[in-house]
Order: sequence, then structure tokens, then C-alpha cells
Amino acid sequence: MMRAFLLIAVALAGTTPSLSAQPRQLSPQVRNFVSVDAPVVALTNVRVIDGTGAAPRENQVVVIEGDKIRAIGAAGRVTIPPGAQVMDLAGHTVIPGIIGLHDHMYYSSAAGGSMKMMLQSYPKLFLGSGITTVRTAGSTDSYQELNIRGAINRGQIVGPEMFVTGPYLQGGGPGPGAMHPVESPDDARRMVKYWSEEGVSWFKAYTQISRAALGAAIDEAHKHGVKVTAHLCSVGYREAVALGIDNLEHGLFANSEFYANKQPDACPTVGDSAIFASADVSNPNVQRTISEMVSKKVSLTSTLAVYETSTPSRVQKDQRVLDALMPEASAAVARWYDNAPNAKDANAREVLRKTMAFEVAFMRAGGLLAAGSDPCCLHVIAGYGDQRNFELLVEAGLSAAEAVQVMTLNGAKVLGVDNRIGSLVAGKQADIVVLRGNPAQSAADIRNVVTVFRQGIGYDASKLVAAVKGQIGIK
Ligand SMILES: [Zn+2]
Repeated sequence: MMRAFLLIAVALAGTTPSLSAQPRQLSPQVRNFVSVDAPVVALTNVRVIDGTGAAPRENQVVVIEGDKIRAIGAAGRVTIPPGAQVMDLAGHTVIPGIIGLHDHMYYSSAAGGSMKMMLQSYPKLFLGSGITTVRTAGSTDSYQELNIRGAINRGQIVGPEMFVTGPYLQGGGPGPGAMHPVESPDDARRMVKYWSEEGVSWFKAYTQISRAALGAAIDEAHKHGVKVTAHLCSVGYREAVALGIDNLEHGLFANSEFYANKQPDACPTVGDSAIFASADVSNPNVQRTISEMVSKKVSLTSTLAVYETSTPSRVQKDQRVLDALMPEASAAVARWYDNAPNAKDANAREVLRKTMAFEVAFMRAGGLLAAGSDPCCLHVIAGYGDQRNFELLVEAGLSAAEAVQVMTLNGAKVLGVDNRIGSLVAGKQADIVVLRGNPAQSAADIRNVVTVFRQGIGYDASKLVAAVKGQIGIK
């Protein structure tokens, strides 16, 4: 059996790009989390939400062979190969592996912690939460991320496929943490060239960057086949679109163009979020932003879960988060949860509603909307933040199938890998999340992850989650 299995792996390796080459040689540490590993696996009696936005389909069969989906369709119309390992998934739903586009590898806790890499815990928690691909959307240590990516690809450690970003492109002057203060267009080019050659596939520009430096960074990145996204403030959305940016993070509340007194290359003083509370979708400025993004094919990353930290009064306590955090961080977040119901955050709640409406309008206008968790802070940690995004996208007005599409196929399109991953169709890589229940009926069922297939190998979600208990840390 094992020999036949290796032959399949070798045959596939010869026909697929190296990026998707299957590391069937898994280390004992990775093997520890594997619950399904057979040459052919058939998932039967299962509900399928396929990632394309199509309505859920009941009573389906999914056949996995090696690292690929071999067949998918209604029971009785798909042949289950003899010798397949059959998993009866009555009462379960499968969705494509989630693609987290703003999924940092660092966390900064409420207990006064620094931005610290979570290299042991986050890869496990992402995968255990159903996230099979991440783009880090701003890195505090790109070499560590590149090395973790390599170790995952080689099967040495367990985790999602990674798209690594270079260090943040911040504006000039003293910068925070690991961000490089870009002083000039030449400085931007120098930095982008270096890290592109080191192997990053994205950059993220940050709040103080100048238009000239951003434009140079985009131009240099594109020369290297690398893309640029941004959390903007000094530069407006429409300005960045005109400069040729590929993707924008966060949405409405990160677009400083709505400030009436916005000065070029300057981030307006924060604190007046009322400006966004009045930014209705019908506002001509909002409409113009959407139409320019759509016509230039600039995608948007929804990060509703992290924005919810601004609206504590509506945040529900998630015991899973407190369990995952180190004791000191857990105690700090528990105190935050305790005070949350009393927060005076009516304005921020209105901004959240407007941000949701902006994202739905962007998608309805033909914009490519994807999602990420920004697992940086407080209760927003790897994986659970992505799941919360799904719930918030449904609250925003998307159908469950559309919200799954945002979190899977649309993310694959942003990354340019939608021919390989992002939806459940025959021939694609078998990145599949098995959920107990039906997220189309109850959005919270997105949290009930049972098994996560990545490249055709099934990982035990509860074992992955248990392994990070008390690990996500501080300082
Ligand atoms: Zn972020």
C-alpha cells in the first residue's frame, strides 16, 4: 500500500508545479496530527458548499486521490473506487480550505506584549481552524516566515501553505517595531528588489507611506512578479488605485479620502471616525471609490473581525480564545471581555455597519472581495478570527455560500492560484474542511471543524487546537 502511495506521489510531483508538490514524507511531528491518510478517500453523504457561490448541495460524494479531488457530485453519480477509505459524513458540510489573506504570524497581546512571532502556535491553529492557505499581509520577520514556509512545504512542521510578505513599507521617520521607514522612492525600490529576490510574494504598504514611495514600490514589485497591498492612511484609496496597487486592506474605515481636510501624503488625525459613520453606500465618494477599484480590478480584503475590537459592546466572549492564550494574556483578554458590554461605542458600531455595507456593495458591483483575520490583538487570533469573519460577512448580508466564496475562491483569485485551489471541483488540490453541522443554516457552525484536508491528507482539528492550549503569548 505504501509503495503504491509513493508512486502516486511521484507521478503527481512530475506533473504539478513545484509549489504544489506533495510532501508525502511527513515528519513524526506532523504525522502526530494526521487522522486520514489513504491513497483514495471517499467522503459520502455530505453537504457541499463548493466555494463558487453556488447554493449548498445535499447528499454529495467527494473522492480524493493523492493530493487532488478526483471526483465530486451527487450520490449515485460518482463512482467510489474499490479500496477507497470511505468516510460517512452524514450531518456534516464540506467547504474548500479557507484562504486567509490578512493572516499574520504575529500577535500583540492586551497584556502589553510586543509584536511577537507565533511560529509554534499559529501554523497549528490556522490549520486546525480550517485555514489551509495564508498570506501574511505584513511581516515583522520575513526570514522567519520564509523559513516556516519552507519547513511546512518539506513536511517538517504542520501548517497552512504560506504566501509570505516582505517587511512593511512604512513612511519615513522613526517607524514602529519591525517596519522599515521608507525615506524615498529609491529606498522603496532597493527594499522591494532585495526582498523580492529573497522570495516574498507580496508587500504591504502602511499608513504613513508617501504617494511617490508607494508608486515606486508597486512598479519595482511588478517587475519582480510580486504584488502589493496596503493598509492606507496618508494615501487615499483612489490615489493608490491610480498608482497600480493590486489589493487594499480593511475597507471603508481605512480610506482617508473621506476626510474633508485631507492633505496630500498626510494621515489625517485619527479620532474623528464619525466621518465614516456618515459614509453611506449612496455617497458619491463611496460610489466613485468602488467603481474605480472595480474597473482597475483592485481587490479588497475584508477584516471585519479585527474591526470588531472597536465595538466591544457587541463582542461575544469566545472561551476558545481564552484557552489558547498564555495565562497572562488570557487574563488580560478576560478582563477586556468583562468590561466590553459597558463600552461607549455607538459611533464605532455605526462605522462597522457602514463598513459591512461597503463590502457588500463592492462585491455586488463586481469587485473581488476576499477576507482575512488580522490576528494581531485582543481576542482576534489565528483561525478563530477567520471564522468570525465568516459570521460577520453573513451578518453583513451575504448568503453563506457567498461568504464561503469570499473566504476561499476569491482569496485564491487574489493570490493568482485559483486554477489550483479555492473551490471544490475535480482536478483541484484536495484542500477541504469538514464541518459538523450546516453553516448555511447556522453561521456559527463554521467553528465546528472536524477534519482539515490539505493536499489530500486529513488533519485532526481538535488535536491541532489542543496542541496550542495556553501557548499564544506575550512580550
Ligand atoms: Zn494587519
